[in-house]
Amino acid sequence: MVDATRALLDELMGRERNVPLDKRTGKSLKFSDPEVCKYALAGLCPYGLFKNTRSDLGLCKFELHAEDLQFEALQKEWEAVSERDKAKYGYERDLLELLTQLARDMDRKIVRQKERAEQDNRPRALSADDREKLDAIKAKEVVALEKSEALAEEGDVDGSQLFATQAEAFAQQHAELLKSLSAPERVMTVCEICGVFMQQLDNSDPKRKARAEEDHLQGKQYLGWKAIRDTLAAMQERMRSAPAEPLPPPPRERSRERDRERDREYDRHSHRSSRDRERDRSYRERDRGYGGSESGGRYDRGANYERERDRDYRRR
Ligand SMILES: [Zn+2]
Ligand SMILES: [Zn+2]
Repeated sequence: MVDATRALLDELMGRERNVPLDKRTGKSLKFSDPEVCKYALAGLCPYGLFKNTRSDLGLCKFELHAEDLQFEALQKEWEAVSERDKAKYGYERDLLELLTQLARDMDRKIVRQKERAEQDNRPRALSADDREKLDAIKAKEVVALEKSEALAEEGDVDGSQLFATQAEAFAQQHAELLKSLSAPERVMTVCEICGVFMQQLDNSDPKRKARAEEDHLQGKQYLGWKAIRDTLAAMQERMRSAPAEPLPPPPRERSRERDRERDREYDRHSHRSSRDRERDRSYRERDRGYGGSESGGRYDRGANYERERDRDYRRR
């Protein structure tokens, strides 16, 4: 049955409308009942966000959500619970865990998508035809330069300047043609929020560009991932600013004992021998790769390794 219809019947006839009379409990739902979505209570059920999109997360393990007419009352019931008791239920902790996992997975996907985009956005290889066109312009530039120099030697400053200007124009023409011939057919970008692959539109058609951006920002995927990230950030912020359990103040004796402990700890760290410090410094230098007396140490090996890897990469 359609959710809305079922919800309506639930409201009109009670949730136990299909339960035989003698089996009815007569109790109304509680927020802690197993069918109530705990993620939704705690702030956001991500499962409903991406229906029929590439980000579809499948079905939620809980069946009762905000569309249900009873949900609002259950939500109020949950919100009335004290912070301390809420922590015992653990719904927020579970939601935090789920959202953290989802955001982390999406961030990884975004990294992969960006790598793909970079591949696509690399300059195109030039054809023999393209090269010929470019070489012809280059040749004209060289001729103009030579003429400019020859005239300069003859003392014809104006003539020399004229050809120098011409050579510069050819150089610019060459650069522009090279740029247009090697430009990728389309430049792709990746949305930092939802990982969607998007074609970067230039400003030649600002209306089209604005519409595409608007469509993206109104899309299910963008809105869903934005909600996940915003909820996650708000939960993290709340945790930072309000620690769940304020610790009871320590009894006086214990706290003085702890101070002494801390002082001893401090002594151990700050009054170290100069030999210790010397040793630390030399470790650090070695890590940075300034090999000290052993010249050609890690640093050079590192550089070699980079070159090796680049070569490998190009071969592939
Ligand atoms: Zn749910
Ligand atoms: Zn997006």
